Amino acid sequence: MFSALVFGQKTYLHCGQVLDVKSGKMLKAQTLIITGNTISEVQSGYISPTESEDQVIDLKNMTVLPGFIDMHVHLEGESNPQSYIQRFTLNEADVAFLSSLYAKKTLMAGFTTVRDLGGSGVNIALRKAIDRGTVIGPRVFTAGKAIASTGGHADPTNGMRNDLKGDPGPKEGVVNSPEDGIKAVRQRYKDGADAIKITATGGVRSVAKSGQNPQFTVEENKAITETAKDYNMLTAAHAHGDEGMQRAVIGGIKTIEHGTLMSEKTMDLMVQYDTYLVPTITAGKQVTEKAKIPGYFPKVVAQKASEIGPKVQNTFGKAYRKGVPIAFGTDAGVFPHGENAREFKYMVEAGMPALEAIQSATLTNANLLGMEKDLGQLKKGFLADIVAVEGNPLEEINILESVGFVMKDGKVYQQPN
Ligand SMILES: [Zn+2]
Repeated sequence: MFSALVFGQKTYLHCGQVLDVKSGKMLKAQTLIITGNTISEVQSGYISPTESEDQVIDLKNMTVLPGFIDMHVHLEGESNPQSYIQRFTLNEADVAFLSSLYAKKTLMAGFTTVRDLGGSGVNIALRKAIDRGTVIGPRVFTAGKAIASTGGHADPTNGMRNDLKGDPGPKEGVVNSPEDGIKAVRQRYKDGADAIKITATGGVRSVAKSGQNPQFTVEENKAITETAKDYNMLTAAHAHGDEGMQRAVIGGIKTIEHGTLMSEKTMDLMVQYDTYLVPTITAGKQVTEKAKIPGYFPKVVAQKASEIGPKVQNTFGKAYRKGVPIAFGTDAGVFPHGENAREFKYMVEAGMPALEAIQSATLTNANLLGMEKDLGQLKKGFLADIVAVEGNPLEEINILESVGFVMKDGKVYQQPN
């Protein structure tokens, strides 16, 4: 560590109560001392600073928690009725400016870390800009451009005019063999991605007939996950249909996104393989609502949205009761960025206790990202990613939608006035 961080100004957070996310205990009247970007001390009672340049922030009427982690966002865009035409009208720079706004909204909502599961590659530049401090946003782990098969959910030319369709290959994330899969993963590593996302089945928002057909073979899945392991990249598979989901689980994918039509057999397989479900209930609710507005989606999309959207929450409840490991994730971008915390309420509605929902967004996700010694808890030596709300989220989960204090990396981005 740099000495400037050790001997620099300290911030004392006087916390009414701190949720120990591991035990579920509410620790009353605590002081968190922040040095540089790290929690350097956790003490009982309200401790006063010893140096005059140190700062005190009064959170005495608040509950303090670790910053939230969302495992499924798309920071490059936000769904709107023009989304489809915007593929032809927005330049990369336009996308970049928009994404910086979405990143800020996400951080201000208390999400201090996100995994971006696919865009054009601007998301990689965005991560760099945030790390550099030129853009305000959460820590980003990004998949860059998602990997699909020809005509699959993330084929970038789906629904286009024939002369624009071409034959995109592994570089653009379109693969049709294990060899292509290996090349696509290595290309993403070269591009600077941190994670790998595949579209294991059809999807709702692509201009294609099926929202659930399998789109990868087991061998393709295996080639992708084994190569990703070489580069220490976490793997995620978008999946609505059961067959594609099973192939992804057997093929070694670590997180299944949405999981809409998951069978009990697949749930058992996920327990066996230690595969996580990322529920994205908020996105399911959103597309169900928007499909009712004439013209919001192309016809083929509206039909899939009204079939698939309403099933997401119910499947999550079943999978949770079956013991499938759950990792918090929302698919923000399908709904407005900054509303990520709606997911907590929907998880609790479906039967998950509030503490477990909070654990899925902190402990579990930090662990999946390989950051369990840095993120997801408020302990000495952890990075200072901290949020606070008024009230007790264990009793009233939806207060997590109104975060009143946000610190990331020891820097305050929002505080009560
Ligand atoms: Zn998504």
